[in-house]
Amino acid sequence: MTDILSLDRPARPASRPAALQEMPSLIGLTREEMGKALAAVGVADRQVKMRVSQLWHWLYVRGVSDFDHMTNVSKDMRETLKRHFTIARPEVVEEQISTDGTRKWLLRFPARGAGRPVEIETVYIPEEGRGTLCISSQVGCTLTCSFCHTGTQKLVRNLTAEEILAQLLLARDRLGDFPDRDTPPGTIAPAEGRKVSNVVMMGMGEPLYNFESVKTALLIATDGDGLSLSKRRVTLSTSGIVPEIYRTGEEIGVMLAISLHAVRDDLRDMLVPINKKYPLKDLMEACRAYPGLSNARRITFEYVMLEGVNDSLEDAKELVKLLKGVPAKINLIPFNPWPGTNYQCSSWEQIETFADFINAAGYASPIRTPRGRDILAACGQLKSESERMRKVDRMAFEAMMIANHGADD
Ligand code: SAH
Ligand code: SF4
Repeated sequence: MTDILSLDRPARPASRPAALQEMPSLIGLTREEMGKALAAVGVADRQVKMRVSQLWHWLYVRGVSDFDHMTNVSKDMRETLKRHFTIARPEVVEEQISTDGTRKWLLRFPARGAGRPVEIETVYIPEEGRGTLCISSQVGCTLTCSFCHTGTQKLVRNLTAEEILAQLLLARDRLGDFPDRDTPPGTIAPAEGRKVSNVVMMGMGEPLYNFESVKTALLIATDGDGLSLSKRRVTLSTSGIVPEIYRTGEEIGVMLAISLHAVRDDLRDMLVPINKKYPLKDLMEACRAYPGLSNARRITFEYVMLEGVNDSLEDAKELVKLLKGVPAKINLIPFNPWPGTNYQCSSWEQIETFADFINAAGYASPIRTPRGRDILAACGQLKSESERMRKVDRMAFEAMMIANHGADD
């Protein structure tokens, strides 16, 4: 237990100097936007395209966060860029490492307009042969799924494309994941090649209620001349915003995950209230129409296991019926409790019975091992600092989690 409670790492100093906070960032712009931004500060028209390519490489292949590291950009040009733009990383307020290797960063982004600085959480989950980064899209959420901790926090604001992308850049920095550059002070040495190979938009917020920024960020993350993540290794999870599911397929083309959680409208209305607006029939129609589906490219259906609520064999049978004809995998998520919730996680036996039935019907149905529970990094446990439990409460909660689940589950 001592181990877990002593996981907090000392806060790092702000990586973005206060004077730069108001400067626009070059990160998170499309090539076209970046070209316009450069032209606006006097870069000659004939040079714009070349400069954009140069910057793109430095920002997204080499991962630099300091203009002076752009060695093939003339000193004059670097000075111009420094006067007008920032490429600094967000401030890391806190970094926690779970006993299972999961890492959680609390990041602070500067105020936008009249607003205040905001804080969000990003989680890295190392697994055998891959590492998954769970990215947030909003501060809080407008939706109020009854089993979700984030859903208890009001929406503060959407994250910008820069802020969504910054989570990936920061994680790659901290994991020593950018090639060909000096390791910056404070970097965590990569543990035998563990790196960010996969990205899931499953952190705080509903990504499809922040469509434009999520789209820009994901298109940059999957750009072949930059961060180069394969679209097959990027998954966007939605509670089911039907019109934007169609747009995601057409305009972004990443893998889709649906937070299903119930197979009947009456129950889903309660668990995932957006179901009242986009009921199961419409949701499943959008799923069937998702482009490029095949056995190798399936939709993930997330299903949180809530004791006595949605975990009966009858539910499992209806689930199989509902998904008929859709290339699907079903991700069973043991409910992650949080202080104040009335739900309980289904028993392991019940989860296995449920999983066995679905497996027998031909669907892969991995049970998602809860990760990073001791640092409140598991699904639905993310909340920003402004709304987090007071430290004492948190420690009591962590102790309760260990007592209930053991330190390693
Ligand atoms: N808003 C998006 C993405 C973020 S939530 C969405 O709802 O899909 C990521 C996943 O965690 C979703 O499937 C969500 O339903 C699930 N989740 C939320 N709270 C949870 C909890 N307490 N325990 C387990 N899973 C939870
Ligand atoms: Fe928002 Fe997703 Fe949580 Fe629902 S499950 S409240 S959509 S973050």
